[in-house]
Amino acid sequence: MSEKIIMKGAPYDRNSSFLRGGATAPGRIREAFWGDSANSCTEEGFDILSANRLVDDGNLDTSDYLTLGKALIPFLKKGNKVITLGGDYSITYPLIRAYSEVYPKLNILQIDAHTDLYNDFEGDLYSHACPFARIMEEGLTLRLVQVGIRSVTPHTKAQAEKFGVEMFEMRNWKEVPSLIFKAPLYISLDLDGIDPAFAPGVSHHEPGGLSVREVLTLLRTLKGEIVGADIVELNPTRDLVDMTAMLAAKLLREIAGIMMKQG
Ligand code: MN
Repeated sequence: MSEKIIMKGAPYDRNSSFLRGGATAPGRIREAFWGDSANSCTEEGFDILSANRLVDDGNLDTSDYLTLGKALIPFLKKGNKVITLGGDYSITYPLIRAYSEVYPKLNILQIDAHTDLYNDFEGDLYSHACPFARIMEEGLTLRLVQVGIRSVTPHTKAQAEKFGVEMFEMRNWKEVPSLIFKAPLYISLDLDGIDPAFAPGVSHHEPGGLSVREVLTLLRTLKGEIVGADIVELNPTRDLVDMTAMLAAKLLREIAGIMMKQG
């Protein structure tokens, strides 16, 4: 029997520095995902509902920030894969804490406009601008690759150097890189990595970003076993006619499809 792909919502936006709204995102992504406006096939024509492997298991208990990922551990220990729907980006730190208990040798691919490597943001160590500083200083990943970056400060640049982060910056962008990951891979997808022309429903609009097609090509061409993913930073209060929720649903479908193809 094949393992399951488990969808979990993380309705959490208490660590957003600028705007709230992300707590309603999991519900909006589910509406877009299960709604009648698109079918359940990936672009390759694979129906992700066909094998009965996708399970929507409701929301995580987010009442205690640092342990919100704990409920994933029993699923992961059975070899299941989880896709978590944010929520602001602060959720990725407690999610990776849970993952690292099952996968001590984890690689992370982060798609994002921002590095989210701030040591603290306005005094908050757990701000949505800080998750990767916590992940790196605790050694929860062997390798962090960031794609889509176009908002760097002297501080976050120094942090990236200190932690040995591999960064693909948009200012140098020529083509989609071919990425190879040798350890179990976690994909962390901040929707603001995509250009606001395609993804307006985020709190921080940073022009000059990736196209949807480039992200899909990146996902489809990378090599590595994907063991988990999150899709974060949808802010429905900023969205236009649910187009960013639809984009999140499409990315969810494609990532789930790749996971299923891998076994
Ligand atoms: Mn971001």
